[in-house]
Amino acid sequence: MTEAEIQGVKSLLKTPQNIAIIPHKNPDGDAIGSTLALWHYLKKGQHNAVIIAPNDYPNFLKWMPGESEIVKFDYEKDRAKTLLNAANVIFTLDFNDLSRIGEMETVVAATEATFVMIDHHQQPSDYAQYIYSDTNMSSTCEMVYNFISFLGDEDSITAEMATCMYTGIMTDTGSFRFKATTSTTHRIIANLMDKGAENASIHNAIYDTNSLSRIQLLGCALKNLVVLEEYNTVYITISKEELIRYDFKKGDTEGFVNYGLSLKGIKFAAIFIENLQEPYVKMSLRSKGDFSVNEFARAHFNGGGHTNAAGGRSDLSMEATVKRFAKILTGYKDELK
Ligand code: 5GP
Ligand code: MN
Repeated sequence: MTEAEIQGVKSLLKTPQNIAIIPHKNPDGDAIGSTLALWHYLKKGQHNAVIIAPNDYPNFLKWMPGESEIVKFDYEKDRAKTLLNAANVIFTLDFNDLSRIGEMETVVAATEATFVMIDHHQQPSDYAQYIYSDTNMSSTCEMVYNFISFLGDEDSITAEMATCMYTGIMTDTGSFRFKATTSTTHRIIANLMDKGAENASIHNAIYDTNSLSRIQLLGCALKNLVVLEEYNTVYITISKEELIRYDFKKGDTEGFVNYGLSLKGIKFAAIFIENLQEPYVKMSLRSKGDFSVNEFARAHFNGGGHTNAAGGRSDLSMEATVKRFAKILTGYKDELK
């Protein structure tokens, strides 16, 4: 953020405002962590703030401080619309294009609020008056920490805020191991621990709450894994029937794609999952090194994300999607060598 933008946001927040904070659809740990941390911060600053999520999120995020107050647009449309229309400031966190909030887009785009974007994805759109966009950041939570510092309020960070930010940094960095994890990230994490974030219990709350059926679904996914050796690529499929057989709950497939990437020599891993309600296939893409799954998802599967982690969708059947994927790969043979 430029000094002028920081001053702009400061004066915007000088007096109590009606504020809506929005994460992307299918919010993850970083989206929920960053919106909650900012929410606690703004409420402490006497603002009237509310978080409106486009839809539900996995149970392993439902212990975070303040989480029960999040309004879910797809469950409570009328209330969410009223709140959005009453907001004079809207913060959008962990996404950078309004198409990422699904059905909420039309309502949000029509408000007259001042928009503030805080995000670390590539190629931001220009809907916001104040944009804090940095693709080098590990997570939006790290940026919310910086944002609070820019406003001179690091001292006001509470244990609740610290817990939320720690969670999002941990989940978005694969527990501090991805390349975007910098020494600064670790310094911020250290500060968050000093403010009251409890590392072991946060890790436990996120990662050690598996159900038996989820582990069995993982077993099924791993059995379905296919290696395409000449492209150093693997893909996993999960059909609707398999999701039902293993009692699929939202968030159960999170992280599965990384098993593909853990195979020696593999540079590109994909997971294709049939949607239970509608006839499309959702995909998660991961890569190592310079191969950009963001570009790949944008070019072929109506998606996007980061260089090494992206997502997209296909309106073809699973079989046709996998065929198309294999065919597209022929154009990337050199890049994936
Ligand atoms: P995941 O595979 O974990 O769902 O998402 C990985 C990354 O890609 C995240 O940063 C997420 O925001 C982004 N992403 C996932 N699906 C889509 C999509 O359909 N469109 C875009 N633009 N980004 C996506
Ligand atoms: Mn993120």
